[in-house]
This record gives sequence, C-alpha cells and structure tokens, in this order.
Amino acid sequence: MADYDLAIIGGGLNGVSIARDAAGRGLRVILLEQGDLGGAASSATPHLIHGDLSVLERRGFRRVRRALAERKVWLAIAPHLVRPMRFVIPAHSEERPPWLLRTGLLLYDRLAGRGGLPPSSTIDITHHPVGNALRRPFGTAFEYSDCVVDDSRLVVLTALDAAERGAVIRTGARCVRADRADTWRLAVVDRGHRRVITTRALANTSGGWSVSVAETVLRQPPPRAGAVVQISQIVVPRLFEPDNVYVFQNSDGRLIFASPFERDFTLIGTVTHDFRGDPAIVAMPAADVSYLCEAASRYFREPVVPVDVVRTMSGVNLAPAAGRRRDGALAFDARRRKAPLITMFGGDVTTARWRAERAVTRLTPFYPMSRPWTAAVSLPGGDFPWQSFEAEVDAARDRWRFLSEAQAQRLVGAYGSRLSAVLGEATSRAELGPAFGPELTGAEVRYLMQTEWARFPDDVLRRRSKLGLTMPPADHDALAAFMANAV
Ligand SMILES: Cc1cc2nc3c(=O)[nH]c(=O)nc-3n(C[C@H](O)[C@H](O)[C@H](O)COP(=O)(O)OP(=O)(O)OC[C@H]3O[C@@H](n4cnc5c(N)ncnc54)[C@H](O)[C@@H]3O)c2cc1C
Repeated sequence: MADYDLAIIGGGLNGVSIARDAAGRGLRVILLEQGDLGGAASSATPHLIHGDLSVLERRGFRRVRRALAERKVWLAIAPHLVRPMRFVIPAHSEERPPWLLRTGLLLYDRLAGRGGLPPSSTIDITHHPVGNALRRPFGTAFEYSDCVVDDSRLVVLTALDAAERGAVIRTGARCVRADRADTWRLAVVDRGHRRVITTRALANTSGGWSVSVAETVLRQPPPRAGAVVQISQIVVPRLFEPDNVYVFQNSDGRLIFASPFERDFTLIGTVTHDFRGDPAIVAMPAADVSYLCEAASRYFREPVVPVDVVRTMSGVNLAPAAGRRRDGALAFDARRRKAPLITMFGGDVTTARWRAERAVTRLTPFYPMSRPWTAAVSLPGGDFPWQSFEAEVDAARDRWRFLSEAQAQRLVGAYGSRLSAVLGEATSRAELGPAFGPELTGAEVRYLMQTEWARFPDDVLRRRSKLGLTMPPADHDALAAFMANAV
C-alpha cells in the first residue's frame, strides 16, 4: 500500500488549501515545501479578499458573484485574518465618469447580496476625513465594502488546520524526482536527508516552478499555461490616518490600491509584468517602484517617492493559457493504469478555498471520501463572528492586563481565539521571555517554531508576523541566535 493517498508539491496557498480540503475528507496527505510555507507568490498578493471591480468592468459578473460569496466564507471562517474595510475611489475628471463608477458599485452591491457588509455610497471628501490625505482637486468619492487579509498567515493557518486533520506538512523538503506508475514514487531531499515516499495521487502546486517541476521532476508534459508573470507591491510609512483602503484610477486604466499595513505603514500595489528567470530570485525592478510611486502621487497630497519605500514584495506565478488570471488553472490527468496528477497554479487568494475544493473533488472516483466541508469550518483561532473582533481584543486585554491596545489588536489579528496558546498564564511581559524589538517575545517565537513551522528569522519577521518592518537590526541578530538555540 502506498504511504499516502495524496502528496502535494508546493506549500503556497494553492497547495495548503488542497491539503486542508483533502485531509478533512479523510485522505492521507503529505505536503512538501522546499522553503517556507507561503514563501513565494502567496505572500506577495495584494492582501485583498474581494469581488474585484476590474473583473466587473470586464463583465465577469458570475466570477464577481462567486468571489463575493467566497468573501463571506472567509469572513466567517477566518475573522481574525480577514478585516472588512471601506474602500474609497476618488472620482477623477480624466478617468471613468462618476456615473459609471456609481452604476458599477450598485451592481457590485447587488452581486454581493444582502446580509453582508454595508453597501456603497457617495461621499463629499472635501468635508470627510478620507479627503485629508488627498490632493485638492478631488471633491467626490465613492465608498464600498471589501476586505483586506494577512495573506501569509492565511497560508500558515490553512496548513495548520490540515495538519490538525492528519496531513503531514514538511517544510525544507524539496521533491527532486517523481516516477509515475499505478502509484507515484517520490524522491525528496528533506532538510538534507534523501527519502522516498509513495503516494496514490500527486498534486503539482509549485506555482512559478510548475513547468520546470512537470518537465524535470515529474517528467510529464508541461501544463498548458501562458507566461510566467511577476506581481509586486511597495510598503511606505503610513500616508493616511483613516482606516480605509484607497482605490486609485491610474492613467493607464489600472486600479491601484493603497491600504493600511501593520499600523504604521501603507501598502501600495500592484504592478505586474512578464518574468524570465529563476522564480526563487525575484526582485522588484526600479521602474515598477517608480510606477507605483507615480500612480499614488497623482492622488496623495504628499508625493510618494522611491526613497520612501521600506519594503518591496514580489512573487511570480504561471498565468493560465487563456486570460482570466484571477481564476488560475486546474488540470486533472488520470490516464489508464497511471496514478492521478492534479496541476493547479495561479488564481487569487479570494477563490483559493473554492479552487481547492474543486481540485480534491476530481479525486472522488478514486477514493471514498466525505463531502466538501471547508466553507463551514473555521481556521485555527477563527471560531468567533467577525463582528466580535473588538470584543475579542477587549477580552484579551482583560485577561493579559500588560497588553497595550495595539499589541492586543495585533495578537488577536494573528492568533484569534488561540492567543492563550501563545501567552499562556503570563501575568507580565517579563514572563514571556526575551524581547526582540518592541513587540516580539520569546514565547511567541517559541510558539511559532513549535506549532507553525517557523525555522528562520524571516519566517517569523516577514510571514508569520510583519514585525521585521519595525525591528532594530541588533534585535535581528538576537532573534537569529535565540532561534538557533531553541528546540
Ligand atoms: C502576476 C500575478 C498577479 C496576481 N494577482 C493577484 C490578485 O490580484 N489577487 C490575489 O489575491 N492574488 C493574486 N496573485 C496570486 C498569488 O500571488 C498566488 O499566485 C496565489 O497565492 C497562489 O500561489 P501558488 O500556491 O500557486 O504559488 P506559490 O505561492 O508561489 O507557491 C508555490 C510553492 O511551491 C514550492 N516549490 C516549488 N518547487 C518545489 C519542489 N520541487 N519541491 C517542493 N516545493 C516546491 C515553492 O517554494 C513555493 O513556495 C497574483 C499572482 C501573480 C503572479
């Protein structure tokens, strides 16, 4: 008998979503990730859970409705990671006419259905706090509801849920060869050790590596795909006070987002273009940084310039062969007497759960398995209604009285109702071990290493938290030493 029912190559959002779905349906699952979970494209997304106005503009009504339904699901199952926000589009005399924006947003409200987030409205920003950060000419804006998300924590908590349902999650494990017969036989370099595993089915969710994995590791025909595409964003010091996302119409017709990011910063994105090279080495070109700075400076009172940029985020993935980049691609190959192969790449964060459900369902002729379930079950720590987020923060401050409001907001946003697993019975900050920068404690690092597969400082500072943005360099070294010595 094969060791597993399903092995997954790649621990981005696509891979972990398949692992969660399949493990919860009773399959024996192993996921192999050569680096860190979400270490590639899945932590370089626009950080949005949304229906996407640009898809609406291209008349993708069905796709927008589906994405808005998934927005509801994410709010219900991950209320700590997904935050509803008002999105503000200033009307611009040289761009889409105001009546068109208003009509589009009314349609967006309709597609979202009732009982969700507040509907769109028109605002006079000359007398509204959202106008304070903007240049003078903007008088009218349109407001609507969507959500922001911590993308890399979404990946890790999806993997954690999979693991709690029996999936084996191996980071630092690179699949170097796979031989296909009636089962798959995989050679894996797992933290320096070579091992062989067998599995009844295989999923290639290696993102920007999908073609090279198909050709050189699986030795199967490459998936039908378009170009390899790079997505990038920039982080700058906070540009505006109100807790909303701005949506700017750029002169090339694209929509540019500026979102609050980690309390003291603003995330501006996105810019995309075709990519050539090794997906492991992705740098944001200076021209892309300038593009986003110029797009934002058309609207913000204070110009945004490249020297303001404190971090860039870039990732690459394969685009599907025919347009529709947001949907991603799913291929299923189950030739006679050959073990099944699923290939899934690209697609947006909003619909990842739904895509994984479709992918795993393709295996139903091969295994007895239970029905789809992931839409109705919370991710770890997400077992409270999204409307109660502030009550969770208040409860955390009551229980751990040494937490400031901002610290409690961050911790509840990261761990939700599982915060007690991080802070335990501590009654003072000193009981949480050494401090790294103003926020991070030894107890949190230990939790991330023991429970969430963190191995190196970047796993903690860039993905499981974003505290690297504010941590002094000397504390980086102290953290590295602490992690090297921690069990
Ligand atoms: C141009 C572009 C535009 C995008 N636009 C949006 C958007 O508007 N909205 C949105 O929400 N998202 C967007 N995304 C989507 C998002 O960035 C990701 O594509 C999505 O999260 C799915 O990623 P993935 O899991 O397929 O790949 P990745 O996150 O890249 O994961 C693949 C993983 O496979 C691993 N791997 C590779 N080879 C091996 C091997 N041999 N053994 C073990 N592991 C291996 C890699 O280390 C990597 O971690 C966009 C992406 C791109 C590229």
